[in-house]
Amino acid sequence: MSALQAELVRLIRAEGPLSVSSYMALCLGHPAHGYYMTRDPFGAQGDFTTSPEISQMFGELLGVWAAQLWQAMGAPSAIRLVELGPGRGTLMADMLRAARVLPGFREALSVHLVEMSPVLRDIQAQTLAGQAQPLWHERIEDALDGPVIVIANEFLDALPLDQFVMTAQGWRERLVGLDDAGGLRFGLGGSDPGLALAAPLGSVFEQPRAALECVAALARHVAAAGGAALLIDYGAAQSGFGDTLQAVKRHGFVAPLNSPGEADLTVHVDFARMGEIALRSGAAVHGPAPQGAFLLALGLAERAQALASRATPAQAQTIIAGRDRLTAPGSTGMGELFKVLALAHKDLPALPGFDLHRLPEQA
Ligand code: SAH
Repeated sequence: MSALQAELVRLIRAEGPLSVSSYMALCLGHPAHGYYMTRDPFGAQGDFTTSPEISQMFGELLGVWAAQLWQAMGAPSAIRLVELGPGRGTLMADMLRAARVLPGFREALSVHLVEMSPVLRDIQAQTLAGQAQPLWHERIEDALDGPVIVIANEFLDALPLDQFVMTAQGWRERLVGLDDAGGLRFGLGGSDPGLALAAPLGSVFEQPRAALECVAALARHVAAAGGAALLIDYGAAQSGFGDTLQAVKRHGFVAPLNSPGEADLTVHVDFARMGEIALRSGAAVHGPAPQGAFLLALGLAERAQALASRATPAQAQTIIAGRDRLTAPGSTGMGELFKVLALAHKDLPALPGFDLHRLPEQA
């Protein structure tokens, strides 16, 4: 039994079953045993790989995207570049290198990182040494001040959500309790959570409160102070019912209650709801666009070609494989499952990569 599992069992015995959001929050962020608090989970040796870890082109294209956005904002002399959940710092490092293409942009930037993990903060500091002197923040609100460009790749999927199941007695909350042997198991809460939603029996409704609050805070800020936020994650463009909680360890799926604190625990992002709350919070919404279409519109194919033409055959193969993995459709590629959503100040023109994707309400 992992140290965290023992603690969860004690907690449930003392205080009763946990909501799914409490379970997720403890698994990922428990100060001593939380998944992100204790390790570097990325790459071939770790549990999973993200886009910036697959190819430097991902961050470079986002760096150029940010530079174009800064220009469209009227090239303010001071602007915060904020990253939520920066992982190893690879995306920020690649963005900053590419940001130098536009004179004045790099000088206008200050770098702000929202990161809860002390282990990852150390790695981010090492990755960015000599390139930036980032300031770290615990909370998103503290990172936002004045005009901003916010980037978040695979951050919203780590924010805890609650789940509700449609039963013969109506909606009941899905909870984490104990089985007879003292292990963790899913069960149902008794009370009616007051959800006025029709759905077939067995449907699961997910309530991503933390992600919605995050998006609302970003939207209110860019609407008031200027700038934009770019959110990239896996999930659906349309809302629907379903249990999307998943645990990943050593590049494979495991049962979500199986290894608390030892596996990454994530959910799919409901981009329709994120877009709606951003609109209601006063921002213009661009997308969601599929990641593949977005990166190709930013010039991924041309960038890959240019890099490959100057590389050794082995390097060229890696570059082309990276391009393909980031853009491939289907369940194995990241081109369609991953979506890109931007929230921006209303006065900004169509943002690069999004020309064809606007919500109908704004047309
Ligand atoms: N963006 C990176 C890492 C994604 S993993 C990449 O693409 O490679 C999720 C990141 O978010 C990790 O850095 C994790 O420590 C951080 N994180 C997760 N939940 C958080 C929270 N509630 N507050 C701050 N950081 C969080």
